[in-house]
Amino acid sequence: MPQTLALLAQIMSTIADNVSQVDERIRAAALVAQRDPSTIGLLAVSKTKPAAALREAYAAGLHDFGENYLQEALSKQLELADLPLCWHFIGPIQSNKTRAIAEHFAWVHSVDRLKIAQRLSEQRPAELPALNICIQINVSGEASKSGCTPEDLPALAAAISLLPRLKLRGLMAIPEPTDDSAAQNAAFAAVSSLQHSLNLPLDTLSMGMSHDLEAAIAQGATWVRIGTALFGARDYGQP
Ligand SMILES: *Cc1c(COP(=O)(O)O)cnc(C)c1O
Repeated sequence: MPQTLALLAQIMSTIADNVSQVDERIRAAALVAQRDPSTIGLLAVSKTKPAAALREAYAAGLHDFGENYLQEALSKQLELADLPLCWHFIGPIQSNKTRAIAEHFAWVHSVDRLKIAQRLSEQRPAELPALNICIQINVSGEASKSGCTPEDLPALAAAISLLPRLKLRGLMAIPEPTDDSAAQNAAFAAVSSLQHSLNLPLDTLSMGMSHDLEAAIAQGATWVRIGTALFGARDYGQP
């Protein structure tokens, strides 16, 4: 038992330490980019992590949590119902999941087709504020299967911006992973320039993960989505 407690204390201090380190990376990257760090949100990506880990991240100051799998997210939401958390859905969306997503999240970052957006708008409960939406854009061509193509983006964005129960906020991207910072910057710059080309009142760029948040911030990210650097490596082998 004392060993278990010691281990738990160690895990807890690790998450708090990781939160400070990621905050520091965001601050440093904002400084380099001459941006106000308060314009960059830290979205904690908690897929595969237990509710206790999210509770620790909350205690260390985080409020926004991103989940990829609906059932997993809903069970954590129940376990953490006592905390004032803001939930973001960031995973691929099947049509039969839209109602639960519309009912249980404040943001959806992964909309890439109109049918899904229409269902989310129809199913968003009247008593909740409009659902915040980012269109996921595919800037890596054949390398990625999800995301709207740059060619299809203007029509999709225009159609979504007219849906009554959605609020189109901006774009989301997951560029092909690379350690080459010039390539990272080029991919994020492409997302930013697509957003500007839309001529819509958008304020959000959801881009940057544990390995490339600096380049994303340099190119205008307003949400960085961070999993590994906060919670450690993910183990998909666990039930
Ligand atoms: C898992 C995931 C992340 C977090 O990635 P890390 O490399 O662990 O920081 C961010 N965005 C999306 C869409 C994800 O699926």
